[in-house]
Amino acid sequence: MTSIAAETWFSAPALRRIFDLLNADGGEVRLVGGAVRNSLMGLPVGDIDMATTLVPEEVVRRAGDAGIKAVPTGIAHGTITLVMDGQPFEVTTLRRDVETDGRHAEVAFGTDWRVDAERRDLTINALYADSEGEVIDLVGGMADIETRTVRFIGDAQARVAEDYLRVLRFFRFFAYYGSGRPDADGLRACARAKSSLSSLSAERVWSEMKKLLAARDPGRALLWMRQSGVLTEILPETEKWGIDAIPGLVAAEGALQWKPEPLLRLASMVPPDAERLEAMAARLRLSKAEAAYFQQWAKSPVVADTIADTAFDRLLYWNGPAGVVPRLKLMLASLRVKAENDLELLPQMGKLQRLLTRALDWKKPVFPLTGADVLQTGVPAGPQVGEMLAALEKQWVDGNFHADRATLVARLGSMVS
Ligand code: ATP
Ligand code: MG
Repeated sequence: MTSIAAETWFSAPALRRIFDLLNADGGEVRLVGGAVRNSLMGLPVGDIDMATTLVPEEVVRRAGDAGIKAVPTGIAHGTITLVMDGQPFEVTTLRRDVETDGRHAEVAFGTDWRVDAERRDLTINALYADSEGEVIDLVGGMADIETRTVRFIGDAQARVAEDYLRVLRFFRFFAYYGSGRPDADGLRACARAKSSLSSLSAERVWSEMKKLLAARDPGRALLWMRQSGVLTEILPETEKWGIDAIPGLVAAEGALQWKPEPLLRLASMVPPDAERLEAMAARLRLSKAEAAYFQQWAKSPVVADTIADTAFDRLLYWNGPAGVVPRLKLMLASLRVKAENDLELLPQMGKLQRLLTRALDWKKPVFPLTGADVLQTGVPAGPQVGEMLAALEKQWVDGNFHADRATLVARLGSMVS
């Protein structure tokens, strides 16, 4: 018998209370999904999902009686979030699918654990653990945990047709937990379903894709997505560019302690073409900040690695570091790969690294004059004020920010007279 009872999170008082609350009086509750899977794989556990035979109203009623906060996060699907000690526990009533159309599923509540397990997507995601920590495996998930096999439960093609998002989930879970090649049936089912992905909502696609891109190393998953034609379907922008830059970027992240960024990883796969990236952002419903990230990157000037520090500072002043930083990171990542076979590139690498540090540490110098200074000299309010300020600011930047306020006031004075 396999058990997860030794996991520290498993004996947390909050979790014990949920077990006591929902296991009593004919009810039953078990852990399911990521918490069980990750514990068995020796990985940290994120959110905690639970499944119960009790209907949502009964979960809410019992929580209310016990003074536990219950949030109806997904009441239509039977999900109640119980919050204790600030920690959320997602409790979902056992379900069976009544009808599916590839995008939405109509569900009915049930009390059959096997039916609930079989409607989940992957075998490694359908393991339960009871209040003793005993693992209950109804779909052969344990064997797949051991071999790190990401496999659909039942007939892969049928399971994908029930919910096309499972295509992306297949690759995402492969990125995080799979080893070797993806399961052949699953891969074939995903490849066949690719033209149906357009029926999914953009939000679901982007949110899945972002999670995939956040994996420690999404390289192999992206390779198979590309191979199966799924990547081009979702991100036609990657068609020409490809995913060749990903391994170098992942290596650079590891070697240079860069935080893995899903957006930078995506940037490495698409051309820096502002117009195409705007269309991509609209199509996938990226947030404003995410869309801006790609625009700033695409519009930032190309930095020659021969640039002098002073010229680089001026470039940062006019363009800001937001687009320059991803540009430098991608340049540096690809140069590191080339330098493996060409030691003469090492100085160039050092230079890029220094520029990157400079951009990351950069604080915009504040121009010491304002419109009030110009008005003070007797220039009447109007467009001329801005023009004079702009001219002085340009001089100040061209002089590498050396001129102080007194010098600039004097310059302004001679400009006016
Ligand atoms: P994570 O660590 O990302 O939270 P997870 O396995 O807990 O991984 P969730 O998205 O939180 O994933 O979903 C919880 C569980 O619900 C899954 O483990 C799976 O059993 C089931 N599930 C989620 N989405 C689907 C889906 N589209 N089709 C079938 N089952 C699903
Ligand atoms: Mg989860």
